[in-house]
Amino acid sequence: MSLSPYIISGPCSAESERQILDTALSVAPAGANAFRAGLWKPRTHPGMFEGVGDKGLAWLKKARSETGLPIGTEVASRRHVEAVLDAGLDFVWIGARTTPNPFMVQEIAESLSGSGLKVWIKNPVSQDIELWAGAVERLQACGITDPGLIFRGFQTFDNVSGRNAARWMQAIEMRTRFPQLQMLCDPSHMAGDTALVPSLAARAMNLGMDGLMIEAHCCPQEALSDSNQQLTPAQLAELIDNIKLRRGNSDAVSERLSVLRDNIDELDARLLEILSSRMRLSDEIGMLKRECGMPIIQPERWDRVMKKALSDASGLGLQEDFVKSVFRFIHEASVNRQ
Ligand code: PEP
Ligand code: MN
Repeated sequence: MSLSPYIISGPCSAESERQILDTALSVAPAGANAFRAGLWKPRTHPGMFEGVGDKGLAWLKKARSETGLPIGTEVASRRHVEAVLDAGLDFVWIGARTTPNPFMVQEIAESLSGSGLKVWIKNPVSQDIELWAGAVERLQACGITDPGLIFRGFQTFDNVSGRNAARWMQAIEMRTRFPQLQMLCDPSHMAGDTALVPSLAARAMNLGMDGLMIEAHCCPQEALSDSNQQLTPAQLAELIDNIKLRRGNSDAVSERLSVLRDNIDELDARLLEILSSRMRLSDEIGMLKRECGMPIIQPERWDRVMKKALSDASGLGLQEDFVKSVFRFIHEASVNRQ
């Protein structure tokens, strides 16, 4: 396991040059590896804040030159892709409302073809991983062989905690289908609420995700979209530190586990060799008994064997019942061979 999960962070939406630069300059030292901001926002109702559009591209480029972080945004059409390619951004993602639309995914895949741009695909809003898988296949057919996946949960009308139900098994199923693709988790859109973000992020990392896409804003309460779920830079720094700490601990634990398991494997191999030598000896005894017409089972001998085993075992910290069962099994197996 790597100590460094890949973290894409930044605001839900670009709002102003100042907000982009302030946020980028604070998420970089918090530990983000890449900077995100939505320019074209898919909003439920017209008339809501629909993003600043193309003019935000220059702000993102400025954020990149001031922080060195790769920059990316959501694309939902050929026009968005062309604008992003002209501006020279580093990555894009296909949003949860776009992934389920094969026409749009096809158009995006074709316009990205040959560009070499990193593409992330969010799961569709509704719980239908076939559509998610289909989007991967459309990109791959256009030569984008390693799109990344972003798991952001599903909209449900059940009473679940958070904004989008996590349904982790769906993410695991997708990983099994595309084991070679990286998968990030977006706990922000799952949570819809900053209070729930850290535990979802920790859960995602425990399930083996490669990293996270987390919304952060220099001043969340003033955000023009998703203001309840965007972390402050300080909250982001704390979340990333905690995750790295837990990863560090779990690395040390897995190291120790693997040493112990190697020892167990070695002992098991020796146990089998010893059992095999014991069986060969009992085969020889069987032959001798047959030659001189002795009965196979001699209760007093068996009684001595068991007593000796129990007395040897008591000094070795082994439980009597356990030793009795093991020796009964061994005795039965050698009688069967004789
Ligand atoms: C976003 O990342 O800002 C966004 C709109 O997310 P989603 O597509 O997952 O709803
Ligand atoms: Mn958002």
